[in-house]
Amino acid sequence: MKCTECGTSMKTRKENYRYAECGLEYVTLVGVKVSRCPKCGGHGVSIQRIEALHRLIARVLIEKETRFTGDEVRFLRKGLGWSGSDFARHMGVTDETVSRWENAAAPIGPQADRLLRLLVAQGRLAISYPTERLTRINARKATITRLEVVSRGKRWEVGAEPAPRG
Ligand SMILES: [Zn+2]
Repeated sequence: MKCTECGTSMKTRKENYRYAECGLEYVTLVGVKVSRCPKCGGHGVSIQRIEALHRLIARVLIEKETRFTGDEVRFLRKGLGWSGSDFARHMGVTDETVSRWENAAAPIGPQADRLLRLLVAQGRLAISYPTERLTRINARKATITRLEVVSRGKRWEVGAEPAPRG
């Protein structure tokens, strides 16, 4: 594979890759193929079954027991396939409110946080989400989810228990 920046041949090897492209700070993909350019430092990563990966991340997020961070709200909103305005309409808030949540200028409120979880579970994920989970969310605390995911056979799996942080 050639570097798209400078045309130099890149070196490919398996790495634990910090998946910052998804917009979340602490998602690590274990043992994925990363190509790096020895000359300019450019890189490319090969991620299989990206939809399944994003579904897995979304499931871990809606099962967490603390409030969503701004980055998580943005990740989940995009996963629903919605623009900021689409999201605002579904949530019954203004576009400005959505942008304040996503930029962490204001915390997402407890009802909006819960509604978002249900929308995600109901939507493309179609996962079972027992509503009693909603009683366990600590709205006063937003923690970042550290997540390691491993590709095993045909699926993505959580590699290590996500440890709450912050
Ligand atoms: Zn290069």
